[in-house]
Amino acid sequence: MKIICIGRNYTKHIEELNSERPDEPVIFMKPDSAVLLKNNPFIIPPFSDNIHYEAEILVKINRIGKFIDKKFAHKYYEEIGLGIDFTARDLQSRLKEKGLPWEKAKAFDGSAVIGNFCNKSELDLDAIPFQLERNGEIVQDGNSSHMLWKIDELISYVSQFFTLKIGDIIFTGTPAGVGRVEADDVLVGKIADKDFFRVKVK
Ligand code: ZN
Repeated sequence: MKIICIGRNYTKHIEELNSERPDEPVIFMKPDSAVLLKNNPFIIPPFSDNIHYEAEILVKINRIGKFIDKKFAHKYYEEIGLGIDFTARDLQSRLKEKGLPWEKAKAFDGSAVIGNFCNKSELDLDAIPFQLERNGEIVQDGNSSHMLWKIDELISYVSQFFTLKIGDIIFTGTPAGVGRVEADDVLVGKIADKDFFRVKVK
């Protein structure tokens, strides 16, 4: 199983990080070792002083595909979920400055929170409301309607480069509001007011 992440898919998040608006989706990957095991806390790694949460809508691939046309992309997933793309922002900034790959800042152990999934028929995919609460306060309030590239477009784009396999997960990018986590934080992710994950930070 592989995790394919999309960067810079929401305008306001691009602005908050002073990033450039991309002409094509920005893609990076996380290995399966990045998955935070269910019910485990997220442990702040020793190599960063600035770990950020990034709540993101997840898509679980359920068919093998390559060069998928946008109009058939909907056949490649049934379930939508919510997760966190934990990012060592300090490390990422240094890597970005030097034009180096982001893996150390994005793909480390525990950096991929994969919460619950629901059937896509329960949602309006063009307007999925989702939120991240940090210690009970809403810090990210997103909606899939604000994605620069929609889910089907992302599947089509990604599959031009990487064969999608059953069980692969796409992280579709984070909206504005990213921020630093601290020990003892509790992060709760919701889609349409329903809890999809709860992560304790240590
Ligand atoms: Zn992200």
